[in-house]
Order: sequence, then structure tokens, then C-alpha cells
Amino acid sequence: MKDHDILVAGAGASGICAAIAAARSGKQVLLVEKSSMLGGTNTQSLVCPLMGFHAGSHQVVRGLAQEIVDRLAHRGGTLGHIPDPLGVTETITPIEPEILKQVYFEMLREEKRITLLLHSFLTDLHQEQGKIQSVTAVHKGGSTVLSSDVYIDATGDADLAVMAGVPYTHGRASDGFAQPMTLVMKIGGVDFSKVRKAMKDRPDQFVLCENADQIPYIAVSGYFDAVAGGHERGELTFPRDRVLLFQGIREGEAVVNMSRVVKRQGTSVTDLTEAEIEGRAQADEILSFLVKNIDGFQSACLIETGAAIGIRETRHIHGQYTLTERDILTGAEFEDAVAMCGFPIDVHDPLGKELYWTQTDTANCYDIPYRVMLPGTPVNLLVTGRSISATHEAAASARITPTAMALGEAAGIAAALAENGNVGLVSIPALQERIRDAGGIPGRKYL
Ligand SMILES: Cc1cc2nc3c(=O)[nH]c(=O)nc-3n(C[C@H](O)[C@H](O)[C@H](O)COP(=O)(O)OP(=O)(O)OC[C@H]3O[C@@H](n4cnc5c(N)ncnc54)[C@H](O)[C@@H]3O)c2cc1C
Repeated sequence: MKDHDILVAGAGASGICAAIAAARSGKQVLLVEKSSMLGGTNTQSLVCPLMGFHAGSHQVVRGLAQEIVDRLAHRGGTLGHIPDPLGVTETITPIEPEILKQVYFEMLREEKRITLLLHSFLTDLHQEQGKIQSVTAVHKGGSTVLSSDVYIDATGDADLAVMAGVPYTHGRASDGFAQPMTLVMKIGGVDFSKVRKAMKDRPDQFVLCENADQIPYIAVSGYFDAVAGGHERGELTFPRDRVLLFQGIREGEAVVNMSRVVKRQGTSVTDLTEAEIEGRAQADEILSFLVKNIDGFQSACLIETGAAIGIRETRHIHGQYTLTERDILTGAEFEDAVAMCGFPIDVHDPLGKELYWTQTDTANCYDIPYRVMLPGTPVNLLVTGRSISATHEAAASARITPTAMALGEAAGIAAALAENGNVGLVSIPALQERIRDAGGIPGRKYL
């Protein structure tokens, strides 16, 4: 099957943006996705709100990511960018995953140059002389060999890169453990006025920004004593020190990001199976715990759980540049910047119950260089999204969805610019100009 120029593997936030950007650059694109839906973690696993569109007074991610938010707003699927009540980042963007699915399908229907292949798992790759020649998708009908000039790996797990022999690190360098997985659940029937009252009465029990009481939206990172009590009584049996949840976009709804499955690898089928089982058992514990112990949750009910457990971290490729913790803490700028991030380092303890946020004055605003997406060999491969070349600590910041979208958009434009498929030879000024033409912000100097 070869009637396209660029193949994008994985239709998560990053892959969709890559495919659309490449198509809008005039290329024929094949977008291959293993599941039935578009949107990856945000739709399959209900992960929201989007975080990191702003740093200080600047919007640092625009382009396709902002277009997606605008389309969501048009359908009533987001509250837009609002101040982050937790004070972790500048703004958060609550969305409804179900409406995001519709937005993505709408966008792909409009892009006539994109061919979509769902229910197709990429399992094999053939390369010759440092160039990928084809990949194989397995599906109900058997398998199909697919080839193109350029390949964009947006699988979140660097699946194509690993098949091509690109070196990588899984999780953190010291022991290979990755950030925990979370089965996100959406609940209804929450009385948020009681949550707000608890925040007023016991501010020591919550992480809140200074003027959180003036923000007409509630995010909860807290109820520390109640959670400790839940552990003591055996009502909670997994390592988590707090309730973590975000108000949904509809009355009385909350997205609960509290379960925690540790020491499992998101690239191991047995670990993934165990993680789904554990995540669901934890979801039952969480709902019972909230109903029994937290004022405002007495009538809470389960609306939905993610179709798949949310995976924060697996593999990081070793690319031409590796983004580090220092880059994030010093607000790094790069000549070959293609995207920005407005989010601090946010490590959910790979082994235990803690949550660490590392913020400095400059921590919430840095450039991401093109080289983090370049493995070098194969010469016609770009890796975007969650598995770019970054340390465990740097990825704990750069993994957020708006930045994955911005990187995907840059990857799509770069793939379209690559002569003879060689993504390493793309002109950086031309790439940055095209990103700006599309409404994006390649780096801090363009703010
Ligand atoms: C629990 C949790 C909470 C989070 N909280 C936030 C938050 O509050 N705000 C925020 O902005 N970000 C948050 N994140 C991070 C963010 O959601 C993700 O890192 C980001 O969206 C990743 O996007 P992606 O496109 O790189 O990868 P993914 O969303 O993982 O997309 C990868 C896609 O590739 C497909 N795929 C994988 N392998 C193959 C294959 N071999 N063949 C074909 N298709 C394949 C998958 O099905 C998927 O659709 C959170 C993540 C998790 C797990």
C-alpha cells in the first residue's frame, strides 16, 4: 500500500497534529492507529484537563493545539483556558473527552489528504541502508505492508523506533521504573460547594494557589489526613497520599486521577493486563472511600472509567539531543527550537505514594529543540510526543498534551519539508517559519 508520502504511527494528540500538519503542507498522509478512536490518552484513558498552554503572561502553545481548543469550545466541550487553582501551572484547560473524539474525527474528515487506518497495530518494520522501507500493520483481516517516504512515530512508546533499533531508556535511568499508571474515572453527583467549604475551613489540607477561592473552578490535590485515615482503616490499599481530581465541564462531574499502579511496564502485555485489573479494583476503593469519607461526595456515582489505563511513561529514545532537567529548570532556549512547554517537572513517584512538583521562576517556560525528535538513523524517522529524547525528569514536564500537540505539528511540517525523506537535513529556519505561518510558536524568541 503506497499512495502517500508520510506515515504517522499512532493517532494520539501528537500523531493527529502531525498528520494534519503534514496534510496541510500538501502531502498525502496515512495515519495508522491500533484502537477504534482518535485522541490516545486523552480519549482512551479520559486524561484531562489539558495543561501548559501558558507560562506567565504568555501563551506558549498555539497553532493546531489552540485550533482544537477552539473547536471544542464551539461544541461546548471545554471551559477554555482558566487559571490553575492548584498553582502548579499558569492555566489549565478542562475538556470533555467524548467531545474531543468528535472534534478529532471532524478534523480528519476535512483533511482530504489523510487516509485513516484504525484497528491496525504496527508490529514490524523493514529497513535497508539506514532507511525505513516499510512497516507492517496487523489487523482482523491479517496483515498489510505499508510504505512511505517519511515515518513519524507517535505511538507514545516509540514502537517504530524500537523496531528500527533506535536505543532508548525505559523510565528513569537509575532503575528503569517509570511513572505510575492511573485508571482515570469520571464521577457525577458531586456537591462542589462542600468541597469549596472544606478548602476554606482546612486550607492546610489542600494544595492551592493564592487566590484559588476567587477562581470559579475547583481542582483538588489534597484531603491528606482523610486519605491517611483511609489507608489506616484499610479502605485504600494502593500508594497514594491525596485525592487528586478536577471538576468536569458539566455540573456535579469530576475527573478523578487518583488511582496509582506502580512498578508495571506499559510495554509489557502481562504488566498491562495486571495494571488494568489493579486499576479497576482501585477505582472501586476510591469511589467507596469518597462516598463514605468526604463531604460533598455522599451521592457520587461512577459515570465512566477510561477504556484503557493511562500510561504516563514508557520509553524515551536516545535522539540527537536529550532534553534534561536542567533545561527545564533554567528555561532553556535552543537555536533549533520547534515547540515550547509551560509546565513544571511533575513526577508521580514510580515506587511510592508521593507527588513532586519542581518549580522555579523559569521552570514553566522552555524551548524544545527539533533534535529530540531525531534518532539519526533511520534517516527518515521522526519520533514525537511522549517518547521524545528526554530524561525521566524532563519528560515529567514535556509529556503534557499541549506540548505533545505542538511537537506533533512540528514533526508533520518537518516531514513535509524533508527532501528525499531525510528528516535530519531539514532547514531549521524554514521549519520555524512554517510553524509560525501555521500559527504556532517554535520557541521563546518568537513569543
Ligand atoms: C494518568 C495521566 C494523567 C495525565 N495528566 C495530564 C494532564 O492533566 N494534563 C496534560 O496536559 N497531560 C496529562 N498527561 C499526559 C498526556 O496525557 C500524555 O502524555 C499525552 O497526551 C501523550 O500524547 P501522545 O500523542 O504522545 O501519546 P498517546 O496519547 O499515548 O497516543 C499514542 C497513540 O498511538 C497508538 N499506538 C500505540 N502503539 C501503536 C502501534 N504499535 N500501532 C498503532 N498505533 C499505536 C495508541 O493507541 C494511541 O492512540 C497525563 C497522562 C496520564 C497517563
